[in-house]
Amino acid sequence: MGNILLKIHGKAVVFPAVCPHCLQRADIPIQVKSPSRLAAHYVVATKWKYFTIQVPFCKDYARKYRNAQLVFASVLGLGIAIFITVMLITMSTLSDWQFVVLTMVWIGLAMIPFLFVSPSKHIKLVGQDDSCIEFAIRDRKYAQMLEIANGMAPSEINDGKRDDARSFAA
Ligand SMILES: [Zn+2]
Repeated sequence: MGNILLKIHGKAVVFPAVCPHCLQRADIPIQVKSPSRLAAHYVVATKWKYFTIQVPFCKDYARKYRNAQLVFASVLGLGIAIFITVMLITMSTLSDWQFVVLTMVWIGLAMIPFLFVSPSKHIKLVGQDDSCIEFAIRDRKYAQMLEIANGMAPSEINDGKRDDARSFAA
């Protein structure tokens, strides 16, 4: 099932007052992030472009998302607490790689709720430049409402691969 790619021209985006996940009334903004993107290489450092936007979701979804964040924070905190306790009791030390593996596994476990509740499943930022913002949207109706809210004709929807949408970039 492909996402719909949608380019909004202009500096600001107007979101419809419906939830991208269920099309019910939406009034709670949730931060939607774009993947960090390599913007440019510099001689001394690498610059990453990172961009977030607030998208309104329904109350129900906002609650689920907050719960997922709470589970993430609790599992992570619990892990640190258990780890410190075990280290103190056993007076043992881990090698660097053991520590890295343990940390990765634990962060992976803590992130399980986001497999089920992730705003980017419904609306995702895929690109941005000075003249437009590009989204990948799951629900066709929502994509049309977003277009209408931004003064576009709903027929401009491009269903398909991201590369197709790129081809008519300004
Ligand atoms: Zn919803």
